[in-house]
Amino acid sequence: MERVIQFLEEKKIRITPMRQLLLEFFMENDGTFGLQELEDEFPKSDRITIYRTLKTFEDKGIIHSINNGIGEVKYALCNEHCTPVHHIDQHPHFQCERCEQITCIDSLVIPEMRLPSGFLKKEMELMIKGLCPSCS
Ligand SMILES: [Zn+2]
Ligand SMILES: [Zn+2]
Ligand SMILES: [Zn+2]
Repeated sequence: MERVIQFLEEKKIRITPMRQLLLEFFMENDGTFGLQELEDEFPKSDRITIYRTLKTFEDKGIIHSINNGIGEVKYALCNEHCTPVHHIDQHPHFQCERCEQITCIDSLVIPEMRLPSGFLKKEMELMIKGLCPSCS
């Protein structure tokens, strides 16, 4: 818990119980989580508060969002180099076709790709699909 408070202070984020709870959850559970899963995890908290907290964390460079391709957004902890203005989450994500779990592949970096002239890149996502270690 102390680590969570220290982290929020470093990022200059006002400490609220929900922020503490959510951040602690992300730090202790390596993985990606959607709004629904977090609601199930914190049944006493309301959906709006959880959602707003996620948005705050995303704006501050603490978590990044991942689109799972079927309209659900998942969130995962950023690496420590992320800041509010510069999210450097240039890693691929892996989606398991069996358990549908999405994993950040932090050990890989998406290579720079040169677009044909006239195309302006804003962001790039790379989703790899297949079987995760527990399913293969
Ligand atoms: Zn980030
Ligand atoms: Zn799996
Ligand atoms: Zn990620």
